[in-house]
Amino acid sequence: MANINKDEIILGIDLGTTNSCVAVVIDKEPQIIVNEQGKRTIPSIVVIEGDDIIVGDEAKEYLLQDNKNVIYSVKRLMGSNEKLKIDGKEFSPEEISAKILSYIKNRAELALNKKINKVVITVPAYFDDGQRQATKNAGRIAGLEVLRIINEPTAAALAYGTEKEGGELNILVYDLGGGTFDVTVLHMKEGIYTVLSTSGDNNLGGDDWDNAIATWIIEEIKKVYRTTINMEDKNVSNKIKSYSEFVKIQLSALDELDLDVSVFTNIQGGTIHITKAQFLEMTKVLMERTMAPVKDAITESGLTNEKIDKVVLVGGSTKMPMVREYLQTTFGAQLDSDVNPDEVVALGAAIQGAILKGEIDAELKDVIPLSLGMETYDGTIFSIIKRNTNIPVTIADIFATTYDNQTAIDIKVFQGERPMAIDNKLLGGFEFVVDPAPKGETEVEVSYHVDMDGILNVSSKNLKTGVVKSAVIKDTSGLDSSEINKMIKDAEKFKSSDLQKVKDNQLIQIIWDYLNILIAYVQDNEKDIPPFFNKQKSIEWIEKVSVWIESNDVEQIKANIFAFQLHVNTSLHDEIRKGAKIGFKMS
Ligand code: AMP
Repeated sequence: MANINKDEIILGIDLGTTNSCVAVVIDKEPQIIVNEQGKRTIPSIVVIEGDDIIVGDEAKEYLLQDNKNVIYSVKRLMGSNEKLKIDGKEFSPEEISAKILSYIKNRAELALNKKINKVVITVPAYFDDGQRQATKNAGRIAGLEVLRIINEPTAAALAYGTEKEGGELNILVYDLGGGTFDVTVLHMKEGIYTVLSTSGDNNLGGDDWDNAIATWIIEEIKKVYRTTINMEDKNVSNKIKSYSEFVKIQLSALDELDLDVSVFTNIQGGTIHITKAQFLEMTKVLMERTMAPVKDAITESGLTNEKIDKVVLVGGSTKMPMVREYLQTTFGAQLDSDVNPDEVVALGAAIQGAILKGEIDAELKDVIPLSLGMETYDGTIFSIIKRNTNIPVTIADIFATTYDNQTAIDIKVFQGERPMAIDNKLLGGFEFVVDPAPKGETEVEVSYHVDMDGILNVSSKNLKTGVVKSAVIKDTSGLDSSEINKMIKDAEKFKSSDLQKVKDNQLIQIIWDYLNILIAYVQDNEKDIPPFFNKQKSIEWIEKVSVWIESNDVEQIKANIFAFQLHVNTSLHDEIRKGAKIGFKMS
């Protein structure tokens, strides 16, 4: 842990998809850092033109001009290997995020008149190791020391000071932004927060409410003025989109509004009239869509609607009164909406900074969203850290070589709940070289460590030689909350067929082990041949069984395994008794 000086400033940064926000705790009070114009959030937009780098509000202006050097929503690419080509140069998502972070750092230094290099950055609860690592790297590139990466919903709950209420609370964080929707259920006990479940919809956000208004405007103009708006014209469609957003925001405060038709047609002086009731009607379906992930998250957390003590609102779209009303009727729970939903996450991150400094008393405890396991010799997964385990955590297990003279153990790290490795997400891995030896003799301890930031480090140690190899597991493509939910649901859906696959696999493995013992005797003339060994019959069996294994013919294997085992057992009785080591996992 970094050495933190009491006077040192730790920024809390909400590095958002659409907007970012930065806060700091001064005299135990969290506050947003504003710029000279009094702006409290920063558009997460970057423009790169030659050596010129423009970030934030100024960069947003370029968006409307359809400029090719504008980059937005880079958060969606974090943790991927995608390269962004801008003005003839290539940039990684981390580098672009670093530009936003540098801008934020400079803005904060200017406002506070102090050098700053320590930060806490927030990420969605479903961000995997690769995405978290990429966020940390972005901080490093920006010359910042990232003290902690924390989950956005946890930060939001911290900002509401829910820990101060003492006792136990179940908190639902409803985060509706511009383009994404995330739900998280947290449990808080005596100041310790645990994420119970996450869910969401990556394609649902304020933009959909804007689109509903845009569609209505087009239809209304057609009806009232018999004019068709050409949405193919980028200029016109951009104007309609931004005007629709303006209308939506107005309707958060007003009951009705006259829209100026001249903004996007040649009709001068014309208006169309929209009421809040109409707006509610046309977006009811969107509001209802948010309820599916909410339901999923609650079911997944093992709670019920009645057990939710608090609903915390995050994201600009939760400023719409319809969201608040809907949630109030659904939960009847205490709706926490005093803090500006655009700022709540950054304030929570700043509070986390103050906790690290010892200025505020609370503790965060997060969990891993999906189990982390390792592929074993037969293609099944051995789960090392179970889903929803609190982090940080280190769990080690001992494995052994599976065949004679094996020279390497392939450590493949998977994330997911399905028993067969290939049905899960491969996060990465490495090869661990071992000295050739009889199978089962070399034992390797494989250890998984997930740190406070949710980053996984896997290491392996040869228990005989003490040789160690380790790797930070970096993902290539991240999972969003809907993917995580899908994986959890699939595990449930395919439970019985998965179980069958595992059983079939075990059967194949058993017959494979027997086959290899037999082959060794048929091929090796040096070996002492036991008295009941029938070479001709053994060759016939070897040919048949090899074909069944090759073609994955489980039915034939099932039908014949006992006869085959009987043949091997009677032929090589003593050898089998001596115990050919079958299997990979030791404990
Ligand atoms: P975020 O991604 O959290 O910054 O949220 C951005 C979204 O919030 C955009 O779709 C905005 O149009 C929307 N938004 C911001 N302020 C309001 C408001 N007062 N009423 C309705 N929507 C808003």
